[in-house]
Amino acid sequence: MKIGWTADRAALHKQRMLNILALASTVLAATPGNAGGISAVDVRDDRVVVRFDDSVEGASAFLLDGPRRIALDIAGAQAGRGRYAGSSAAIAAVRQGQLTEGTARIVLDLAAPTMLGDPQIAPDGKSLSFLLQGVSDTRFRTAVGQGRLRFDAPADMSARPQKRIHSITVPIPPVARGVSLPPIEGARDGARPLVVIDAGHGGHDPGAINPENGKREKDVTLAIAQAIRDQLIRSGRVRVALTRDDDRFLVLQERYGIARKLNADLFISIHADSAENGEAHGATVYTLSETASDREAARLAARENKVDIINGVNLGGQSGDVSSILIDLTQRESMNISANFARLLQREAAPYVPFRSAYHRFASLMVLKAPDTPSVLFETGYISNAEDAAFLASREGQQSIARGVTRAIEVHFARKLAMRDGGSGG
Ligand code: ZN
Repeated sequence: MKIGWTADRAALHKQRMLNILALASTVLAATPGNAGGISAVDVRDDRVVVRFDDSVEGASAFLLDGPRRIALDIAGAQAGRGRYAGSSAAIAAVRQGQLTEGTARIVLDLAAPTMLGDPQIAPDGKSLSFLLQGVSDTRFRTAVGQGRLRFDAPADMSARPQKRIHSITVPIPPVARGVSLPPIEGARDGARPLVVIDAGHGGHDPGAINPENGKREKDVTLAIAQAIRDQLIRSGRVRVALTRDDDRFLVLQERYGIARKLNADLFISIHADSAENGEAHGATVYTLSETASDREAARLAARENKVDIINGVNLGGQSGDVSSILIDLTQRESMNISANFARLLQREAAPYVPFRSAYHRFASLMVLKAPDTPSVLFETGYISNAEDAAFLASREGQQSIARGVTRAIEVHFARKLAMRDGGSGG
C-alpha cells in the first residue's frame, strides 16, 4: 500500500489541496487529542468499514476527479499498518497517509464513478463506515469539489437521548454559520404572519440542469422566490423574507435555521424537479415524513438532501456545540399544518400552475426539518422537461406560480385567523 502524492497530481490539485489543508487545520484546531491508528479497511458488499485501534474524533470525506478518488480525512487518527480486506468493483486501490500531525487521510482510488452515503461513526469512535453508491459520470463530476460529507463525531452520538417512539432528534446548528438574517418585508405590522421563502440551491450548487437549454434550477428558484415575495409585499397581508436574494450557497440547515430564527409561521422551499424521462412534467408539493410515500419521493429526497451531504462544509459550529432537540408533539402539529397547506397550495395554484395527478408526496427532506415551522417543499415543475423549463424560466411562468402561491398563503392565514376568532367566540 503506497503512500504519498505524485508531483503532477499535487500541481493539478494545488488550489484544492490548499483548501483542504485549510479545512484540515480547522478540524485539527477544534479537536486536539489522542490518535487511533488505522487498523483495517474492510469492504463488504457496498459498505466500507474503517477500523482504528483507539477512538478517533471525527471524519469527513470528499470526492476528487482526474483520476476519480474518494478522500477520507480522519481527525485523531494515525496512518500506519492498516490492511485492506475484501473487494469492491468500485475500488481500484486503497492508500493512506498522514495529512497533518493529527489527521490521517485514506484515499480510495475508484474504478467507476462512486459517491458515498450513510456515513457513520461507531459510538465508541473505533470504527467508521459508509456505503459506496454508483452514480453517473455527470453526477460524479457535479459532486466533485462541492465540499465535504461529515461523519457525526462519536461524542455527539453518545450524548444523544435515547430514541423514543414518535420522537426523533434533529441537530440544530447553534447559529447559522455567520449567515446574517435577511430583511423582513411586506406588512409593517409585526403581528402579521411571517412567511419565509427559500430559493433552492445557489452558489456552487446549480441544482438540476436541463441538458438541452442549460436552464439551471438555482436560477429559476431564485426568480420564482423573488416573484412570490414581490406579490406578497403587494398584497400587504403577511410579512415575508427570503433565505437568499442572490446567487449564494446555503446549507439546508441554514435555510430552515433562518425560518426558525425569524420565528416564521410558514416556510416554503422552492425547487424544480428533474427526471431521466423528459416527458415527466408538472408540479408536486412535498411535506415531511420519516418514510417516503413512494420510491420516487425517496429518490427525490436523496437527491435534494445530497446537496447538503456533499456541500455540507458547515465548518462554523460543527461537532461539539451542535445541540440536539427532542421533537415530539410540536413536530406532529407542524406536520399536520404542512400537509393541510400542501393541499391548499394545489387547490389555489392549480389554475395557474400545472400539477401532477399525485401532487402531494411525503419524504424525509432535510430542509423541512424545522420542528416548529410548518414547511413544504414545492417542486414547481420539471426543469428536465422542455415545456416546464420554458414556463419556469419565463417571467409569465414565474408570475403565475407566484400568484398561485400568494393565494394559497392568503387563504391559509385567513383560515387560521377565522379558527382563532371562532374559537374565542368572536
Ligand atoms: Zn432542488
